[in-house]
Amino acid sequence: MGSDDSIACIRRWISECDSKHLTCRLGLVGDAIEVEPQMPTRVIDVTSFDGHQLPRLIDTRGLKGKYVAISHSWGTVVEPYTTTKNLASLKESIDFENMPKTFRDSVFIARKLGVQYVWIDSVCIIQDDYEDWKREAKTMGLVYEKAYLTISASDSSGDHAGFLTPNPSVEMDVSLPFQPGCPTSGHTYLRGQYTGVIDPRWTPISRRGWVLQERTLSRRILHFDSTQVHWECSQYRVSESGAIEDTTSNVNTSYFLGQNIKPLTGQNRGSGSSNHAERRKALRTLYHFYACKVHEFSDCKLTRSSDKLPAILGLGNEISRGTGIRCIEGHLFFEEPLFVYSLLWYTEMFSMEGSVIPDHVRAPSWSWAAMEGPRVFHLLGQDIEFERRIFLKIKSVLEVEALGSRPYSALVCFGRAIAGIKGDPSRPSNGFLGLVDHMPLHQDDEQFQPLKPPTFSYQILEAIDSKQHWPRRNVKGWVSFDSREFKPNDVFFIPVCAPLVGQEDTHPETTRGCLGLVVVKAHVSEQHEVSNITNSFKRVGFGGLYGTSWFDQRNEEEFILI
Ligand SMILES: [Zn+2]
Repeated sequence: MGSDDSIACIRRWISECDSKHLTCRLGLVGDAIEVEPQMPTRVIDVTSFDGHQLPRLIDTRGLKGKYVAISHSWGTVVEPYTTTKNLASLKESIDFENMPKTFRDSVFIARKLGVQYVWIDSVCIIQDDYEDWKREAKTMGLVYEKAYLTISASDSSGDHAGFLTPNPSVEMDVSLPFQPGCPTSGHTYLRGQYTGVIDPRWTPISRRGWVLQERTLSRRILHFDSTQVHWECSQYRVSESGAIEDTTSNVNTSYFLGQNIKPLTGQNRGSGSSNHAERRKALRTLYHFYACKVHEFSDCKLTRSSDKLPAILGLGNEISRGTGIRCIEGHLFFEEPLFVYSLLWYTEMFSMEGSVIPDHVRAPSWSWAAMEGPRVFHLLGQDIEFERRIFLKIKSVLEVEALGSRPYSALVCFGRAIAGIKGDPSRPSNGFLGLVDHMPLHQDDEQFQPLKPPTFSYQILEAIDSKQHWPRRNVKGWVSFDSREFKPNDVFFIPVCAPLVGQEDTHPETTRGCLGLVVVKAHVSEQHEVSNITNSFKRVGFGGLYGTSWFDQRNEEEFILI
């Protein structure tokens, strides 16, 4: 890799893409990207294409140009590269020989391709300046989206390992002499099947959290794995060995998002002026796309747990820039009712470790980013009709101080918070609901489920008298807690939406219930005096109630979800 043959091959891919692929000139939400866009705040200037001069770091100050961005794994030894101390000297020149090999390999490829600028996060962001990091993390999505191409060190174990390695020698299994009488002499060689097309979702680097947005937003990527180099753009994936894969579901399909959400972008952006049906279709597409990305992202590894939201912020910000839909705490703040649907997330609880609460609070409890652990699913990921009956209204978003080092968003809600679900089934009181640990569903209960719970933790039973035994017929719903660490104790149920739409007449048992959030009262110290609304709740799980008799008569009120 990095040989003249490899470089010639990469040049052919670029040339083909430049001349034939219109979609490869478009950003995530379908906006055209300039050939020489405005560059990130800082870039490495490779200075000379033949390597006779040392590269240096420059402040771009609005300069336009082509640059290559790098997607890499820092490795286990994380050494800050650019700091406030060495910044001035790196602007003079960078000691090329002592750079980590991944950085040297990137500069080498850029020089060979005649691209003057390279962007590497650990070089172009000042590592000991938190304000600089915060500012740059917000626009990181744009860095990859505008890049001329992205180099992905897909198999590299870390920056010191690099990604340019000698191509492995190829065993020639059979050699055949040319036909007698043929004017040329020599042999034809046959070899075994060589490595084919890469699937970028399964490379070692894809387990790193930051890589999801880097790959999703990059318009074209060179993947360097341990055997060869691969090309990925919106039209195809192709390998140096010649294996080609056409546009399929495996290819980075982000660019097609732009084709399908036009009613939300350009002059329609945030206005609702486009055709109603088309707009809804586009919203569904975007909701589904983002839900899939959150699912893919949620169990990726991050060196710092606190990077959970920053590592996907670039993607959310790019969607916001194109559509006007805000990204709040890792959720797209869609118009009603889609945003409340997105509150019905859950984690994969079949895994051995289950999900846990991270050491440092990094997101409000209503956000999927609040939990650490297995993958996040959206309960209504595939099934997001607009016509469902909605029980919860989000009135506004409040900025609340003091969650670690940053303000966070609390939701001011209008709806019902149903009290009375007691955690201790041995002391039920009349009319209360009780939770029963791990009671398997009775066969006959299946028909009462508004939506089959993704995993079953507790049933909600209705107590009839104070000496309660719990008759099966009084099953009123189910509850699933976000973590095994949560102990059920005096929880409230907040109805969010009906489980099904449009089938009230044919399936009254399953449509008259609701899906909702299971919450506990927030402690006084967590309420932060945010407003004169006295009730604050924290999410601890989600669930379903069968029938609406438990909440139809209750008054709606304002409360805050933190
Ligand atoms: Zn292309």
